[in-house]
Amino acid sequence: MSNTELSPADALTRPPFQGKLLIDGAWVDAADGSTLERKSPAHDKVVAVYAQAGVADAERAIAAARRAFDRGPWPHMKGAERARILRAVAEGILARKHELALMETLENGKPLAQSLAEIEGAADLWHYAATLARNLHGDSYNTLGEKTLGVLLREPIGVVSVITPWNFPFLIVSQKLPFALAAGCTAVVKPAEVTSGTTVMLGEILLAAGIPHGVVNILVGRGSVVGDVLVTHPDVDMLSFTGSTGVGKQAVAKSAQTLKKVSMELGGKNPQIIFPDCDWDAALDAAVFGIYFNAGQCCNSGSRLLVHEAIAEKFAAALVERSKLVKVGDPLVSGVQVGAITTDKQLETILSHVDGARRAGATVALGGLRMDAPGMYVEPTVVTGVTRDMAIAGEEVFGPVLAVLTFKDLDEAVELANSTLYGLSAAVWSRDFSTCLGAARRIKAGTVWINTFLEGHAELPFGGYRESGIGRELGRFATEDYTETKTLHMHLGERTDWYLPR
Ligand code: NAD
Repeated sequence: MSNTELSPADALTRPPFQGKLLIDGAWVDAADGSTLERKSPAHDKVVAVYAQAGVADAERAIAAARRAFDRGPWPHMKGAERARILRAVAEGILARKHELALMETLENGKPLAQSLAEIEGAADLWHYAATLARNLHGDSYNTLGEKTLGVLLREPIGVVSVITPWNFPFLIVSQKLPFALAAGCTAVVKPAEVTSGTTVMLGEILLAAGIPHGVVNILVGRGSVVGDVLVTHPDVDMLSFTGSTGVGKQAVAKSAQTLKKVSMELGGKNPQIIFPDCDWDAALDAAVFGIYFNAGQCCNSGSRLLVHEAIAEKFAAALVERSKLVKVGDPLVSGVQVGAITTDKQLETILSHVDGARRAGATVALGGLRMDAPGMYVEPTVVTGVTRDMAIAGEEVFGPVLAVLTFKDLDEAVELANSTLYGLSAAVWSRDFSTCLGAARRIKAGTVWINTFLEGHAELPFGGYRESGIGRELGRFATEDYTETKTLHMHLGERTDWYLPR
């Protein structure tokens, strides 16, 4: 493939992408010869065929990562040398951004322009991690008396299992892998089996950038098979997982058998709180963007809209009208804002949540159905009259379905915001400084946006409170997560003997 833009027709007539497993620097078939096919959810056409890893492949990949860590050279290289390779990866990503974006769209179903922006954003994360590779350092204690010097070393933790979901395949692997590599770790990466293409292509880019063999190994395969080995294997030191809260909890429990360090980025049911003095147009736009972006298949979706009762009716009516303008359709067609639902299982889940809300007494004010078109599309959906006891108020739908609730004052808004098991993100919309900060400081979430939504920067940490996760990604401490600390306790001069005090 070349790095040029393809027309939708070209994209669908070319032969499927062929992906193998990357183990110890070589592209190989699965030990048992298994393969796995992926169809585009928007076009129902086979777009990729992969070697499908099994337990034996996963064990080989972990052994390769273990050797690459224990024997080096990667963990012992200068930060500057690792940074050079990470920058080369960033440039390699940008050089292939159009083919990466196309692969992402064909497998995930998201609009091509969105995929391109995500690939560019991911390249920025590799650049940012390169700067951290040169800044990782420990600490020293010169205040412990004349005879003692304490030095804290930060050492790479070892072999990291990186397990990623299908909603932002390339962006999410780029929130983890470059930071683990910057710290000097080695890795075995398992993308979601339905969206493995861009991660496999990343393997090609890593090798071209000069990453030593065995430092990054990539396995396409099922979570219950390959993922399970990555979570339980004693030679893995850390698990960096992004996915659903349910699978995440099981993974933490299983990884505890070998007491691995874990970094978990899980689900969310994120509230956007709309006060009457907000910038109406901006809040309306953010409400629509917040729920329909990526077809609502976003851990960070603004899937709960908490609207002050004084404006609730008018706001909901405007929301319905604005939602009707959202362009849903073939993600390869320019101008489309919302593409296909990524898997048939997810399509069923979304529709059953809408049914459940209807049965619980909520009103489906807009949408709620699968679109009558080839491909898997769900209509932009607004559910009003939602009360906190309904499942749709607390459960992650992971689709273009907005639940609208009302509140009477700031206290109730905060209480409602904090009323789910999640705590990933939230937004507050008001022109009043005290309202914004008053709410933001009391909301239990890893990110609170004020008068904006779904913005992110490499410099700003990201992660969840409560059942939305453990740990933070991004930001200047991101590499520290992939380290152990070692205390050097040094004694200067003669030591006082315990048995024969002098
Ligand atoms: P998922 O939990 O089904 O799968 C995530 C990954 O785990 C996949 O690679 C899958 O193959 C693997 N897996 C499945 N079973 C496993 C097992 N038994 N052992 C080990 N690995 C296993 O999630 P998904 O459906 O791919 O993604 C959607 C979920 O991810 C949503 O809940 C969403 O909120 C969450 N998510 C969270 C963030 C975040 O940063 N907090 C970001 C994106 C997605």
